[in-house]
This record gives sequence, C-alpha cells and structure tokens, in this order.
Amino acid sequence: MQNSNSTGQATACPPLSLLPDCAERAWSRSAIALLQGDGRRSADTHLLKPLFPGLKGISIYLKDESTHPTGSLKHRLARSLFLYGICNGKIRQTTTLVEASSGSTAVSEAYFAKLLGLRFIAVMPHSTSRQKIEAIQSFGGVCHFVERAGDVYDEAIRIAEQTGGYYLDQFTNAERATDWRGNNNVADSIFRQMEGEEFPVPDWLVMSAGTGGTSATLGRFIRYKNLETRLCVVDVENSAFYEAWRTGDMQITASGSRIEGIGRPRVEPSFVPGVIDHMIRVPDAASIAAAHVLSERLFRQIGGSTGTNFFGLCWIAATMMREGRSGSIVSLICDSGQRYADTFYNANWLKQNRIDITPYRRMLDHFLDNGEFTLP
Ligand SMILES: *Cc1c(COP(=O)(O)O)cnc(C)c1O
Repeated sequence: MQNSNSTGQATACPPLSLLPDCAERAWSRSAIALLQGDGRRSADTHLLKPLFPGLKGISIYLKDESTHPTGSLKHRLARSLFLYGICNGKIRQTTTLVEASSGSTAVSEAYFAKLLGLRFIAVMPHSTSRQKIEAIQSFGGVCHFVERAGDVYDEAIRIAEQTGGYYLDQFTNAERATDWRGNNNVADSIFRQMEGEEFPVPDWLVMSAGTGGTSATLGRFIRYKNLETRLCVVDVENSAFYEAWRTGDMQITASGSRIEGIGRPRVEPSFVPGVIDHMIRVPDAASIAAAHVLSERLFRQIGGSTGTNFFGLCWIAATMMREGRSGSIVSLICDSGQRYADTFYNANWLKQNRIDITPYRRMLDHFLDNGEFTLP
C-alpha cells in the first residue's frame, strides 16, 4: 500500500510493530485517577446563611470555600489547571511546574504537585503572607520572590523556560480550564444548594476578582441556565479591573492591590467583562472593616477578599431594600483570616498602612442591625 503526499512522492507504509510505548499515557492515567480520587474524597462546601436583624426581606448566603483541603477557593482552580495541563499533554511525568501567584493558588498547586510527585516553583511578590509561604513549603514547593506584583508573570515565564517546565498560568487559563457549564463547579453547586430556599434563584451573585475566573464561571453559568440572577463584581483600590470594565480599555494598568488574592495591576486575560452586570470599587478600609465585622458575626476569622465580597453584598442589599424588593444574594468566603493575622488583623499593620477601619465598622454594624446604610 502506498500513499501520496502533497509533492506527489510515494510514501512507504511503516512496517508493523513500531507503535510507541505507552509509559507516558500510563502516567497521565494514574495522574488523572489521583486527581479524581481527591475530588471523590471531598464533600461539597457549605452554603452558610447568617441572619442579620437589619436585613428585612433579604436572605444572605455565603459559599464557604475556605473548607477545601488547601484552605481556599483556589483548590477548585488548581485541580482544573492540573487536569487542563495533563489533558493537553503539557504536564508529564517529569515536568517542572511553575506558577505566578499572590499565594493562594500556589498553596493549592503545591498540594496537587506533591500528590502527583512533580516539582513545583511558585513566583510571588515579597509581600505574600508568611502563612501561605509556609503552606507552599510544607507541600514541598519552592518559593521564588519578586519585588513588585507586576513582575511575577515575566519571572514565571523565564523560570519555566530555564527549567524546561510548564507555566500553569492561572491568570490566562482560569477561565478556560474551568468547565463553566456545570460539572459541580462553584456556580452549579450554589444553585443546587439554593433549590429548597425561600428565594431559590438569587437576585444577585457578588464576587471580587483576582484571575477573574470565578466571576467568569458565575456569569457564564447564569446566562447558560437562562436565570434572572445578576452578577456584581467588587473591585478594590489600585486594581485595573474596574476602570477596564467601565471604559472598555483592556490595556489599563494599576499599581497593585493590598488585598491579597484580588485586584490586579493589569487586566487579566481570564477577566470576562461581558458577563458582568454591575461593578463597584470599594476602599481597602471598607474591605478590611467588613472582614472584621463578618468575622465577629460568624465567630471565626475570614480573609480580606471575603471582606470585599461582604461589603459589596451589603451595598447590593441596601440598594434592594431602598427599592422595596425582597430576595436572596449569594457571595463567597474565599479563604480564612488565619492567613492574615500579621496584616488585616494586626493593629500595627493597619496603622503603618494608614488604614482606619473604625468608621466603616460602625457603619456596617449599624446597617446589619438596623438596615440603614449611611456611608462614612
Ligand atoms: C483568587 C482569589 C480570589 C478571586 O478569585 P478569582 O477566581 O481568581 O477571581 C479571591 N480571594 C482569594 C483569597 C483568592 O485567592
């Protein structure tokens, strides 16, 4: 048997018994089985319903992503990024993995790298919390630091090239590695857990943005399921997202956020502005005050970005109440406050950074108890 190629030359059929060995596929099958096992052994995260006397007619729900084995919503993302890399043939038995991160993603990726026996290098800003650095190292990951938040990308690319490794690139791949139509992603899980509630279809979902991947998944899912739910994304000081959404200019840059995990110096490729119905930007003092207030009312500490989410949620709730509407609002607990004992929960750090949370604390406590929302 002979085939002709495009130049018309005859091509001999290869002789029998030259099929490649399948060691690499055997490894990728065992790697997928290990990732599936981690998922199978994990329960779904709680959807908390804290009660606030001031919020008449408005039900608040918080999806608690801090209870994943690696302590944040990034457990889902890291798992998806590993599956994406393996299924694209990029992550193999001897691949060194490299990531640019503000910390949480690197913690989760270090965990999965250890599970699969792969080398892992995290490129992070110097300011990353000590607790996250220790968690990465405890999973055998190597931490590599840069001075400015905006330097993590180029440094991660450089290290990946130098080591012949694979750059996981959460900021590009978050929106595409996640199966946004369902498959028990965070949106799918929220809507299933809401099914028996008084207002099962939330009026609003509220979320901050780091990669933008979670808001992309939430926004796509509510469109795909043809729901009336709207999506509000809450941005922070010194982040590029809000201006980009408002003006449509995706080249906008900023100096970089103090709220770890969210607010970025550039508009990340995983940020999908077209699925966002509304955006607000809040001061860091408001985010951190909201983290303190919510921590007290939940009797456990939550992280700074959860404070941002909660402040945005209160803003939406206040607007709904002013319009005389009732319904439900859902947001996320992204991680625990234990990771920020040296920063958001440290009075000296707040003073050094000239952040006075007292006015926002008073205002939020008054709102949650009496329903009156008066900005300081
Ligand atoms: C990543 C992260 C977020 C934002 O989630 P994205 O899906 O990346 O936009 C919020 N809080 C924390 C603690 C994070 O690590």
